[in-house]
Amino acid sequence: MESYDIVVIGGGAAGFFAAIHAANASANSVVILEKTNKVLTKVAVSGGGRCNVTHDCNYPSQLVENYPRGGKKLRKSFELFDAKSTQNWFENREIQLKTESDGRVFPVSDNSKTIVDALWHAAEENGVKVHYKREVAKITMIEDGGFRLELSSGDQILAAKVIVTTGGFNKIGGYQWLKDLGLKIAKPVPSLFTFNVPDSEMKDLMGLSVSQGGVQIPGTKWKSEGPVLITHWGFSAPAVIKLSAWAAIYLNEINYKFPILINWAGAGEPFVREEISGMRQKHPLKVVVSNPMFGLPARLWEKLCAMAEISANLKFADLPAKKANKLMENLVRCGFNVSGKTTFKEEFVTCGGVELDAVNLLTFESKKVPGLYLAGEVLNVDGITGGFNFQHAWTSGYLAGKNAGESLH
Ligand SMILES: Cc1cc2nc3c(=O)[nH]c(=O)nc-3n(C[C@H](O)[C@H](O)[C@H](O)COP(=O)(O)OP(=O)(O)OC[C@H]3O[C@@H](n4cnc5c(N)ncnc54)[C@H](O)[C@@H]3O)c2cc1C
Repeated sequence: MESYDIVVIGGGAAGFFAAIHAANASANSVVILEKTNKVLTKVAVSGGGRCNVTHDCNYPSQLVENYPRGGKKLRKSFELFDAKSTQNWFENREIQLKTESDGRVFPVSDNSKTIVDALWHAAEENGVKVHYKREVAKITMIEDGGFRLELSSGDQILAAKVIVTTGGFNKIGGYQWLKDLGLKIAKPVPSLFTFNVPDSEMKDLMGLSVSQGGVQIPGTKWKSEGPVLITHWGFSAPAVIKLSAWAAIYLNEINYKFPILINWAGAGEPFVREEISGMRQKHPLKVVVSNPMFGLPARLWEKLCAMAEISANLKFADLPAKKANKLMENLVRCGFNVSGKTTFKEEFVTCGGVELDAVNLLTFESKKVPGLYLAGEVLNVDGITGGFNFQHAWTSGYLAGKNAGESLH
């Protein structure tokens, strides 16, 4: 029977990082078993083909604030390998990185192949072997230590240590083989998606966006700020996608049918009210519809005025209080009914997976199954967009690999 010191299940970001550091720490045989005929698939397509490797965030205490699942529990893990460690690792391998104005870190090449190649080279240098088309279907603990892996093909493999990096939910395998090991699984549901508003009055404005908007779900604690984009199916952009992550479980429970209020002005009611009344005093003869406020695109402003029944030639001086009020409402609490979701093309992740309480977050070893490590999206950790999901894959992959490797000494 085939036998290896360390078997890594899954050839994604976490799997490669774990395998590289396991081999580096132990100099023992490390093999990645990948069920498809390709590895690092998501790294290759990530960030629109540019790969947003991490986020420029120097403090673990700040980093954890970007994980709806995981959050503060990850602080100690990030103290051991944080976003700076990721940047150093790639830069030490002569991969130049750049930070964009919103904090997202990309390779200077703007090409995810640079990251894929760096991971491949590091794996090869450390003697990691990759086996394709080998899907693990079952793991059993052997009485005198180690594990027996059963593959879908019927092959069996022995391993002293196993690192599970099988990524997010996939319908075929699910998490049954992990449940069989006694690991608890938080229900997997999608995170990072856009909102469908089938009867949106805004559809004809698709492509228009505001950079400082806000979205909230009335009657809940869920709200988020940032750019909002009007699409032909509803709304997208970071404020919407972040909200989908924070409210992922709730939105799944209500079957993605819920009201939202959009703040187009990027400011609170008192400020918006004051600005409108300021226009009445300072520019009474200006036509309301032709003078967009709060930096809004002209067509969006015109639409919000039309929704407030403000006629084309009405001047600020003649704006009745009722219509000014309605305009203010449209600017700060513009209501829509969401019905359904659309996967965000740039990035989507699973909310749910192996419960973190079952794992030592300094080593990423299972508490229940010694010798079994877990890293990446298979865990109940997910971040908002911006490089946080890869950061978790690097951190957990590094710690799982290093500790699995060192445990063989
Ligand atoms: C389109 C897209 C773009 C993204 N862009 C970004 C981005 O720019 N920045 C960012 O931070 N995050 C991004 N993400 C999220 C990020 O890619 C993932 O969070 C990350 O890749 C997870 O890595 P992983 O190694 O845990 O899982 P994966 O990359 O999913 O790898 C898991 C691997 O395990 C294999 N596997 C599964 N089951 C088995 C089995 N039973 N036996 C053997 N092999 C198995 C799978 O085939 C796969 O190759 C993006 C996601 C998507 C979908």
